[in-house]
Amino acid sequence: MTDWTNWYKLKEKLLSLSNSNDWSSAENEWILDHIYYIEKWETYETCSCGHYPIQEVCVIINSENNNTTIVWNVCIKKFIDQIDSWNLFDWLKRISRDLSSWPSKELIEYSFLKWHITEYEYNFCKSRFGKQNFYWKQMKFRQTINQKILDKIQKFN
Ligand SMILES: [Zn+2]
Repeated sequence: MTDWTNWYKLKEKLLSLSNSNDWSSAENEWILDHIYYIEKWETYETCSCGHYPIQEVCVIINSENNNTTIVWNVCIKKFIDQIDSWNLFDWLKRISRDLSSWPSKELIEYSFLKWHITEYEYNFCKSRFGKQNFYWKQMKFRQTINQKILDKIQKFN
């Protein structure tokens, strides 16, 4: 697999937005704030490493000074791993293809953390993990929850 990340450039950019001048401590200042998925190529973004175009965007925030910047889902894995953003986008694509599929645990945890879904919806999904049987009414509710998640993460303009 080709490594598209310009790691040197990425570190430079993040260091310039960090409080610490030393990467080994500066990298700990950054956390994942939220993610979004860009649908239209006209609005694709550029990663902090300079890589363009990116569709799977991670917005990261500096916990010391509140600076924010965007990083591609591939590049973020080089320094942040609290939430597996790689998986989040995979699961997002899955529910986008099939609204009736169950959202994954990661996606549910993330969506609840960001208040994209209610506590009731969160508990509903959690209680259903690993169970095969469901009623039609539950299926409709699942579709509603999936749509809410998609509406919050997909970006159309
Ligand atoms: Zn990058």
